[in-house]
Amino acid sequence: MALALSPSLIVAHISAYAHLDKGSETIHSQTSILCLPSCLENPRESAILLETLHRYLLEKPDQSSLHGPQPPCAIVTWETNEGSFYSGQPPLNRLSFQRQSPEKLNAHLNAPNARFILFRDLKPLVKKDSPSEWLFLSKSDIESHVGPDFSGPSSEDAASKERSRLFEAARLPAYLPPIVFLGIDDRADASTDSKPMSEDPLNPRGVPYFAMDAPKGDWVPEGGEFGDARSVGSGMGGWEAGVFAQGRALVDWNSRNKFCAGCGSPTYSLWGGWKRSCTSALEPEEGKEACFSTKGLHNFAYPRTDSVVIMGILNEAGDKMLLGRQKSWPKGMYSCLAGFIEPGESFEDAVRREVLEEAGIVVGPVRYSSSQPWPYPANIMVGCFGRASDDQTIRFDLDNELEDAQWFSRSVLAGLVGSKEGSYLSKDDLKKLDDTSTGKAKMEDDRVTANALAPSEDQGKKDVDAEGKKGRQGMELTRVPPDTAIAGMLIRTWVNGGVELASTSKL
Ligand SMILES: [Zn+2]
Repeated sequence: MALALSPSLIVAHISAYAHLDKGSETIHSQTSILCLPSCLENPRESAILLETLHRYLLEKPDQSSLHGPQPPCAIVTWETNEGSFYSGQPPLNRLSFQRQSPEKLNAHLNAPNARFILFRDLKPLVKKDSPSEWLFLSKSDIESHVGPDFSGPSSEDAASKERSRLFEAARLPAYLPPIVFLGIDDRADASTDSKPMSEDPLNPRGVPYFAMDAPKGDWVPEGGEFGDARSVGSGMGGWEAGVFAQGRALVDWNSRNKFCAGCGSPTYSLWGGWKRSCTSALEPEEGKEACFSTKGLHNFAYPRTDSVVIMGILNEAGDKMLLGRQKSWPKGMYSCLAGFIEPGESFEDAVRREVLEEAGIVVGPVRYSSSQPWPYPANIMVGCFGRASDDQTIRFDLDNELEDAQWFSRSVLAGLVGSKEGSYLSKDDLKKLDDTSTGKAKMEDDRVTANALAPSEDQGKKDVDAEGKKGRQGMELTRVPPDTAIAGMLIRTWVNGGVELASTSKL
């Protein structure tokens, strides 16, 4: 979307973020990332915007003077939702503080306007004649599958604080399919993403949303089909994609954690699908020590989101970006390097370790840019920029994850992000990526990786040269990821000039 660029528009963007009480550094970063791609189409406009931003921030260090009503142009940013696809915007109001209350959740569950989204094998139920739109169901459509309401403690259990905690909005017996309370859509007008219906944040009004696994078998509601996750998700509107990402990740987490990691007993769902507990605690055996999972906080009892760094590595001159590709990707596609963050590691260190591992390149300064939920199945992508000298030898033999990596110039990438064909994936491409991540494609190597467009387990065996130092350079680059993936956003942001390159570090 191209908008007329004017000083008032720029100031309005800054004011929008200042209104959220951000510091000037964040304002600069957010404005660059979120506004540039949606407002500008060429580097010259971007340069003007950045210059104006710098001037504005220098002249207006006191952010308190910027507070005021949110200007209309902020809506443009939210509407286009290019900054963080899959995070909604505005997201559902999750009402996380109500998850422990069966009374509150049952009121949402039985509200006449409650909507259910279904997944089968993590494929979303969508309209057959419009596969990028949800087929929302009402409770009456799936009454027998939903079964009883969320449980609370019996009067006997309620007398004990410890016992009563075991029944906080639970689904019992344990074999019942979990129902995940996603939250409510509290927009007064969904067509404009306008402000919430109610001004009371503790008692908001809206449409409740729930997610669950579809009943086993081949039952499909009339007018619906279970679509390929990746092509359906990436084709959705921004708000719907947020519901998709949240629902898919939670349904996946519940289905993967049916047994206690502490003692192997079955688990059951509580907190409206946001917690799982060990059934051994429900009927403790006399003389037997309680499962350790019932005491303290445990990362297997609450939904996980696995962190992945994804990075646009720029050379010293700032005119080239390092991109790589895996063998399983669509032909001609290159993307930013990426990898899972390891325990005890900062974002910055993870970026440096991954780039060295995958391409043999030593990275200097690293800077956080923006993030994106990635529901394949439940990651948070941490987007960064880094700087590295481009006179180093690229090599793939350290972890054999990439098929190729190269430095590409801004002009080459500008040609791709500016054309539909250059940042486009067909339905077949997306299905292939879906199959590799869900294990349906042939696996040549079972190591887990994460990468820019599609975390994929299909590493393949790499052809390396006799010295084992270089892979197959010179492969043709014809595509980069679309804007619905953060890799596409990082590339586009840099191409449009939206990256601060000033650095005092010697590479
Ligand atoms: Zn246990």
